[in-house]
Amino acid sequence: MARYTGPVCKRCRREGQKLFLKGAKCYTEKCPVERRQYAPGQHGPASVRRRKQSEYSVQLREKQKVKRVYGLHEKQFRNLFEYAAGRPGVTGDNLVVALESRLDNVVFRLGLAVSRRQARQLVRHRHVKVNGIVVDIPSYRLSAGDEVAVREKSRELDLVDASLGARSRPRLMEWLSLDEKKKVGRVVRQPARGDIPLAAQEQLIVELYSK
Ligand code: SF4
Repeated sequence: MARYTGPVCKRCRREGQKLFLKGAKCYTEKCPVERRQYAPGQHGPASVRRRKQSEYSVQLREKQKVKRVYGLHEKQFRNLFEYAAGRPGVTGDNLVVALESRLDNVVFRLGLAVSRRQARQLVRHRHVKVNGIVVDIPSYRLSAGDEVAVREKSRELDLVDASLGARSRPRLMEWLSLDEKKKVGRVVRQPARGDIPLAAQEQLIVELYSK
């Protein structure tokens, strides 16, 4: 299954909102969502005038949006949903927490990469260690107490320094800690839904997959 390599900004424009897929550009006026508030493609401008969306369409768009924010394929997302549904508690909350606990997401949240895409690349290229062992699986699920560190020989990487020094860097989540000098982070506790700044109605995704 090939990963999407096209222009990521189109994905934001398709969902009609910023998904923050690109890093620094997302926080500037150059963001295409700010300049062209309609879907991409020949019929994009006409889509603004289209009639009300069906219930299914609303649910589908919500699922696509969340899937794109975290950069997952349909099958990966579906598998994660099945995992969330099998856990005790609210399925929607479990789903968001499971997404947030992925290694690539934590690397991004720690500020070691400017986007989840870049974080995934760092992991895939074996620059990241979990509890002292190199892990190159972006979907690796982290638990409370896990240590996430940039490998010793990768600590001077420009992209990590640039990311940590970026003005657009989001504040560190309360459930994470970071030693910026050593480039070592830790999952202090498992996040709750309220800790996760994801503007999504996960209940719509649950309804979609429960049909
Ligand atoms: Fe999305 Fe960022 Fe591109 Fe704006 S700049 S459209 S937020 S990826």
